[in-house]
Amino acid sequence: MHLQVKALVKTYGTFPALKGVSFEIDHGTVVGLIGPNGAGKTTLLKCILKLLRYEQGEILYDGQPLMSRKEIAREISYIPDQPVYYEELTLEENLNLYAMLSGLSRQEFLEKKQMLIEDLALAEHLGQLPDRLSKGNKQKMMIAMAFLKNFRLVLADEPFSGLDPVMIRSLKDLFGRVKKEKKTVLISTHLLDLAQTICDSYIFLDHGRILATGTQEDVLRIAGSSVEDKFCLEEAYMRLLQRK
Ligand code: ATP
Repeated sequence: MHLQVKALVKTYGTFPALKGVSFEIDHGTVVGLIGPNGAGKTTLLKCILKLLRYEQGEILYDGQPLMSRKEIAREISYIPDQPVYYEELTLEENLNLYAMLSGLSRQEFLEKKQMLIEDLALAEHLGQLPDRLSKGNKQKMMIAMAFLKNFRLVLADEPFSGLDPVMIRSLKDLFGRVKKEKKTVLISTHLLDLAQTICDSYIFLDHGRILATGTQEDVLRIAGSSVEDKFCLEEAYMRLLQRK
């Protein structure tokens, strides 16, 4: 999915959380959404999902402004920053329910579910109630729910949070796989070394404004580094914040 965000303004009461945010994301790319605490990353993702209303601006999904909540739910997957689930259902029942709502065929669901259970090492936790899961295993449940769907765009808010190194690698592989399928990935993360290994381009956000967008070369140029310099996302981030 090709995503275009144009001059987006979002306020909470009188507090401006997004102050005219614009960028574009090509389909089949992995994009890192980078910025300090409170920059507006979660707010932006929720606006794209239409979970939040915004006052001004436009969001185009493959060039179309009018995508219903239903279409969004079908085509865009979301890994939220806080786990969301039915607490009275087991992990497996949560997955089953989510797949049912996503409209997967039974065969497709069983294949995907099996693959995700293996990739995310969830087998021994399937019968557990989510409240009893560790933070990392709750996060893996959210990832499994997001990847069960036949999405065209996945929005991931701090998806690596709480994962052990083996699971971080599994999630990186999952993102790599969806990219090969020409799906689009937008990841909000503070883990810059990790982002640098998986992202094709970046969106830097601070205090509700875009500081820079683009590929490594674009970011180096905007950050005032020589394009001959070896790209280091952390270095670019520090430079961009200092230059404001
Ligand atoms: P973090 O990296 O810490 O997760 P973020 O970049 O995702 O931060 P947001 O959660 O989008 O930032 O918040 C952006 C700003 O909007 C912050 O100043 C936050 O305090 C404010 N904010 C977020 N939600 C609300 C709300 N419901 N009511 C009022 N202000 C809010």
